[in-house]
Amino acid sequence: MKIKIWEYDLALTHTWTIASSLGSGGKNTYGTVFVELTDDSGLIGIGESAPSSRYAENVRSVQTFLHKVDPNRLSFSDIFSSMAYLDRVAPGNASAKGAINIALNDMAAKKQGVSLHDFFEIGFREGKHVTSFTIGIDSPEKIRQKVEEAEQYPILKLKVGGPNDRENIAALRSVAPTKTVRIDGNEGWKTPDEALKNIEWFAKDPNIEFIEQPMPATTAAKDWQWLKSRSPLPIMADENCIGMQDLGFVVDNFHYANVKLCKTAGVSQGYELLNALRNNGVKTMLGCMIESSVLTAAAAHLAEKTDFLDIDGNILITNDPYVGPTSERGMISFAKAPNGVGLCVARRA
Ligand SMILES: [Mg+2]
Repeated sequence: MKIKIWEYDLALTHTWTIASSLGSGGKNTYGTVFVELTDDSGLIGIGESAPSSRYAENVRSVQTFLHKVDPNRLSFSDIFSSMAYLDRVAPGNASAKGAINIALNDMAAKKQGVSLHDFFEIGFREGKHVTSFTIGIDSPEKIRQKVEEAEQYPILKLKVGGPNDRENIAALRSVAPTKTVRIDGNEGWKTPDEALKNIEWFAKDPNIEFIEQPMPATTAAKDWQWLKSRSPLPIMADENCIGMQDLGFVVDNFHYANVKLCKTAGVSQGYELLNALRNNGVKTMLGCMIESSVLTAAAAHLAEKTDFLDIDGNILITNDPYVGPTSERGMISFAKAPNGVGLCVARRA
């Protein structure tokens, strides 16, 4: 097995600001790392790592990890052992491990001549799966402009936890008065009181669906319990839901959970976590980072296993090097994907 690793800077349409990056003034590009595995027969698998500093990763740490990996220890016919090998290389590094996991699953599905969703035996119903489109923290005027530009998307996600939250939702509503909106706090409200006050205010709007991660992930369980029992809107774990090890905490303290492949080290454990949460009565969303169509495609294949989709990373950028499933009007579709095997992605011509 051969491994090829390269970095790529994803360029954002708009400067990207969320509550946890308010002080830094936002970002215009995000670095990602691609991995390509090729076996002796010429079968190729592609994977991507969209590392986040929130989880102590960046392009440098991903490169360092991936260069320690001996590709001859990887096999798409034994993905479980391959992942166990990666855990012996170094702990953590979930998004870097995820890139390899996705490439191995891409190869395994291609070897069988099927799409990843058929390889997982979960299928994909066309016309059923809609992703939200995310609006980052900004001035009310910029929010209005972004919401106008996002006219085609039926579900919006608004990042909050900045100084102008109420003005920003008012600006959004001046353009899209009744669109379904999801609110993402990104750990922005520091106490249960502050969180509850804000959630009660947002809940006056009948078309707000849920609130993601209103308080820091380090918040004590008893404070989450307090908020969960009083919140008029469902609260969703994101920064509190990394992988299987968080299952008990999330089930106890949240209504919903946001699962991301860069947190779960790829699709194998992402699939497992989605199943486990659903079996415990927790509704799930498949989320994303700023990422290309490789990672958003990987998530799209698991759409049947989740309740909400937020896989817009590839629509927030202007230089996606790949094409995959489409998301016109937010509707995820494989009908016009460049091919029907593995991830169903190809390099942009
Ligand atoms: Mg979030």
